Amino acid sequence: MSTMKAIVVSDRLDGTVDIKDVPVPEVGHGQVLVKIEYSGVCHTDLHVAASDFGEKPDRILGHEGVGVITQVGPGVEHLQVGDRVSVPWFFKGCGHCEYCVDGRATLCRSVINAGYTADGAMSEYTLLYADYTVKVPDALDPVEATSITCAGVTTYKAIKESGVRPGQWLVAFGAGGLGNLAVQYAKNVFGAQVIAVDINEDKLLLAKDSGADVVINGKNVESVEEEIKNVTGGVGAHTAVVTAVSKVAFNQAVDSVRAGGTVVAVGLPTESMDLSIPRLVLDGIRIQGSLVGTRQDLEEAFAFGAKGLIKPVVQLRPVEDVQAIFDEMHAGLINGRMVLDFTGETK
Ligand SMILES: [Zn+2]
Ligand SMILES: [Zn+2]
Repeated sequence: MSTMKAIVVSDRLDGTVDIKDVPVPEVGHGQVLVKIEYSGVCHTDLHVAASDFGEKPDRILGHEGVGVITQVGPGVEHLQVGDRVSVPWFFKGCGHCEYCVDGRATLCRSVINAGYTADGAMSEYTLLYADYTVKVPDALDPVEATSITCAGVTTYKAIKESGVRPGQWLVAFGAGGLGNLAVQYAKNVFGAQVIAVDINEDKLLLAKDSGADVVINGKNVESVEEEIKNVTGGVGAHTAVVTAVSKVAFNQAVDSVRAGGTVVAVGLPTESMDLSIPRLVLDGIRIQGSLVGTRQDLEEAFAFGAKGLIKPVVQLRPVEDVQAIFDEMHAGLINGRMVLDFTGETK
């Protein structure tokens, strides 16, 4: 039995991770074995390691993986050895419930998530179900593809949900890892006019570089809502996408859209937002939650990356750095995405 290096939730359950030798999984019917090349580190990995969603000792983390198929199981006909594929958070649905059938599979009540309820992408090899495997286009840089596998598809889907049309105003609340990709998709794919709101000047500079038409630092203005009204002809934006993990941002978003506007919620603060019922009813506001994206959404998100319209900010790190990266993320020291290099080329 051959073994592989894997990054797992420590069985001490203290929020740290261990690098362990574990058996290489065996390919079953309908599955493919993937040799991981790159695996991005996400805040969700910190939550899983910290047991925030339940205790998962020895679970292999990671849901921003990209690698190449090295073995194809029986019953798999549409994938081949050598195909480059992705390992996303949406790992597998049940395939037959209302949500799986009508195109909202991420809402499947029996969903399996990579790096949480299934072993994920932070290992030399991982198993995927062929029917749930999305290929990475050849024209897309595989390191950048790791970010599109999570932050990219999440923001792309959220903007789709917003219904924004070319030329309309979209406000991105939060200009971090997710928000930066929201700016790029909104601007370069949907043709929206984009306002980025954050309280971190570095992130706003990056948003400006990424194509935001207007940036607003919430710390430097009296009222974010008023600033947004000022730049949108006095009426507010058509849509807002909130990736900020802050109740304040959600409340500002509701007050920043015009009558008939849509607010899409992506960030996950564990609080309630204030929602004026008269505002909701009389102004016909729509509030929409959005959770990662389906296989189809991911395929589309990759395609725009392959066209050069989306440029994730990524940095390669050796696998051995994983705990240091976790610590840096906890301390808020990271701009862009840290990506573990399982090819061993990054020292
Ligand atoms: Zn992620
Ligand atoms: Zn289902």
